[in-house]
Amino acid sequence: MQIIDGKHVAATFKMQMQQEVAQMSVKPCLVAILVGNDGASETYVGHKEKMCAEIGFESRVDRLSAQTTETELLDHIKMLNNDERVHGFIVQMPLPNHIDEQKVIEAIDPRKDVDGFHPVNVGRMVIGLPSYVSATPKGICDLLKFYNIETSGKNCVVIGRSNIVGRPMSNLLSDKEFNCTVTVAHSRTQNLKEVCAGADIIVAALGKAEFVTADMVKPGAVVIDVGITRIKSDKTKNGWKLVGDVKYDEVAPKCSFITPVPGGVGPMTIISLMRNTIMAANNEIYK
Ligand code: NAD
Repeated sequence: MQIIDGKHVAATFKMQMQQEVAQMSVKPCLVAILVGNDGASETYVGHKEKMCAEIGFESRVDRLSAQTTETELLDHIKMLNNDERVHGFIVQMPLPNHIDEQKVIEAIDPRKDVDGFHPVNVGRMVIGLPSYVSATPKGICDLLKFYNIETSGKNCVVIGRSNIVGRPMSNLLSDKEFNCTVTVAHSRTQNLKEVCAGADIIVAALGKAEFVTADMVKPGAVVIDVGITRIKSDKTKNGWKLVGDVKYDEVAPKCSFITPVPGGVGPMTIISLMRNTIMAANNEIYK
């Protein structure tokens, strides 16, 4: 069994990007829009800002109050769409309830949509055209490639069909780069245990702590654990610990490769966002 070390791969990619950015005449510029004061969103945006500085990007957080109207947010997006100095921007989700998230996503110029959530980027990804790919599935693809994991012709079960993880992941794995035979499982899937037990590769992205157990995993399978759930623990100082969607201790011994939580998929997500921003600064997708 080999542990897929997301921290190591992320550090390697980060160093490559630092070197690349140092050679660029114009520094990539990423802006994050943060609406309201959601604690988790503050943390995520803080990490992104720090990573931008470490890689050598220009970056900025545009903080808007929780009372910002949908129209005001759409106007702000329009302003960023038209600002030539800004190569890419993201709107940190979730947004306050009075704002329609889909409307906001669709207002972003696809050329600056480094989160890869705009239907134009999603559509291009689905038909195999160059596009900004959602950061988490993109990071998983990079992990599979980094470890030279054989995917061609393999049976892959993706658990979860969200727009940001499960759905794009299943599309990417079925595409010609990976050539998997993909099954998408979701909350209405029946006999999930049997479905998973036939899989060579399992991507667990359902957001249910330690859901995937050893009896669901074929010996020698590759297990990618996307889930992050905070659960109570009497073994940590702060009384909490992070666990994935996979019961790691019992599943890991059966696997050929597995991602731990934390330190597997997580560190790659932010790296993929940074890569997308470099691509935007270089006009690599929309020439
Ligand atoms: P989501 O809630 O949007 O989607 C969950 C999906 O799982 C749904 O499609 C649902 O149909 C499916 N599902 C729910 N219960 C199920 C069940 N019992 N059996 C089968 N399928 C079931 O979640 P998401 O945004 O895709 O995130 C999933 C998990 O990944 C969460 O824990 C989230 O925190 C984590 N996540 C991690 C990263 C990272 O960088 N590591 C990034 C994004 C999300």
